[in-house]
Amino acid sequence: MDKIGVLTSGGDAPGMNAAVRAVTRKAIYEGLEIIGIKRGYTGVIESDFMVMDRGSVADIIHRGGTMLHSARCEEFRTEAGRKKAIEQLKYGGIEGLIVIGGDGSFKGAQLLSEESDIKVVGVPATIDNDIACTDYSIGYDTAMNTILDAINKIRDTATSHERTFVVETMGRHSGILTLMSGLAGGAESILVPEIDFSLEEVCEKLNHGYERGKLHSIILVAEGIEQDFTSSTDNNESQAFAIAEEISNRTGFETRVTVLGHLQRGGIPTAQDRILGSRLGAAAVDLLLEGETNKMVGVVHEEVKSFPIEESLTRSKDLNKEIYKLADILSL
Ligand code: ATP
Repeated sequence: MDKIGVLTSGGDAPGMNAAVRAVTRKAIYEGLEIIGIKRGYTGVIESDFMVMDRGSVADIIHRGGTMLHSARCEEFRTEAGRKKAIEQLKYGGIEGLIVIGGDGSFKGAQLLSEESDIKVVGVPATIDNDIACTDYSIGYDTAMNTILDAINKIRDTATSHERTFVVETMGRHSGILTLMSGLAGGAESILVPEIDFSLEEVCEKLNHGYERGKLHSIILVAEGIEQDFTSSTDNNESQAFAIAEEISNRTGFETRVTVLGHLQRGGIPTAQDRILGSRLGAAAVDLLLEGETNKMVGVVHEEVKSFPIEESLTRSKDLNKEIYKLADILSL
């Protein structure tokens, strides 16, 4: 193998740059030519390629986002789109491809490796941390710390005004980011898609807290919760607004809503995310050099490991119910 490519795809995540830097420099160290592909799979189809050298990735390890830019590419979901992508990779002489992204990007990587002889390795990067076969994905730690920073600030206002704040966090269908941020942030209640909850219990907890003299409460709500409280509000609004209104109706407490939104995806990557990005990026190059394909790299109990992409797509990453229980006990 002489020439490989690297791209970032799906939602951007802090630490992607550290991974791009690691892929680039490890590849050069191993005597490979390395091509940066811009805007994910869109850039493959459009042949938006750039030759990378050591200097191309200078001064990026501390930056959020991704220097290669990211995209969601509908055309790549079709066989015809992937055929175009394969042609461009072949034309560019790219024999191996490293895809840094979430599970959607992994699905694309899997199909690419099955439909061509190009070797493909995935590096998990998503703030949601919903990818199986790795304890952590790149961006998760930074996003958790961003959420904590927001909770700290909201807590100041919540205390001063004696209010209940409903804070909505990202995570798509997974509640892992919300649960762990809620535990670390000392949230009074944590509502996640994986666990049924009753607003009655949430309100009871608020009332008990109030009786004990609590001045404020913070309720974290994962964006993916499916219980429907939208009857009294606009359907397009996030569930957090409906929940806040319902809590206010049932308890009489003043509630406010903060939807953290894209704030959670940006920011300076933490040490953990830079270390993870560096380790996994370098490991992905090693896998390609070993002739592997259709694999992903992950970190399990601090050790870098590799798994078939299929396994990471089919195994579910479960929310830790013990931690959910602990968070509940500690917030009583
Ligand atoms: P995040 O978890 O941050 O959203 P992601 O990688 O899951 O990241 P997606 O938008 O789901 O983000 O996927 C990124 C891109 O991967 C898509 O825009 C598409 O180009 C490709 N992709 C996703 N699913 C498939 C699929 N089933 N077949 C082929 N390509 C796919």
